[in-house]
Amino acid sequence: MLIYIVEDEASIRELESYALEKSGYDVQCFEEPKTFYDALKVRTPDLILLDIMLPGDDGLTVLQKLRDDRSTEKIPVIIISAKTTELDRVKGLDLGADDYMCKPFSVMEMVSRVKARLRGVRDKSSGIMCYNGIMMSEDTRTVTAGDMSVELTYKEYELLKMFLKEPRIVLRRDDILNRIWGQESTGRTLDVHIRTLRGKLGEYGKYIKTVRNVGYKLDKDE
Ligand code: CA
Repeated sequence: MLIYIVEDEASIRELESYALEKSGYDVQCFEEPKTFYDALKVRTPDLILLDIMLPGDDGLTVLQKLRDDRSTEKIPVIIISAKTTELDRVKGLDLGADDYMCKPFSVMEMVSRVKARLRGVRDKSSGIMCYNGIMMSEDTRTVTAGDMSVELTYKEYELLKMFLKEPRIVLRRDDILNRIWGQESTGRTLDVHIRTLRGKLGEYGKYIKTVRNVGYKLDKDE
């Protein structure tokens, strides 16, 4: 997942990019809209963090341009600005900002809002999720790993879906258990399912990493 940050203040830029990179996202920063526009032509990000007071075009103009262009109109945009007046809030939202945060902001909250936005995008998309050769189609409820078709039980499928929705993010054991099994589960249930899921994914099974004492994550890197 790629996130573009447009922010002219270096300290805020660094704060944002550090937190997002730590959460497993790829981040590219821009001090001004001009270089950001150039980068947009090269790669489309999954989400944009946008400041309002910027050199050159201001953030609202940038947002307007994004929404007026078919290739960028659907990219989620979170506006992060020092301008706290209600007017700016409304203006930002009218132009189609997906969320809005005022400086100073909590980095934790920023990351959680980014995650929420990206989850929303995934859910509304074509229903296909991929990670390094593992592909899941929500429409047909099928999974492939490389060229191989993979038969999963209901719980295994739900487990893999959790990983594919948040690749490279560590999922805590308790969270996984709660979300998939509810109350009637033990940690052992999870471990057994992880083991069979890894087995069924063949050589791709190794991407499901154990994070000792915490949980699991889907990550091709160590
Ligand atoms: Ca600024």
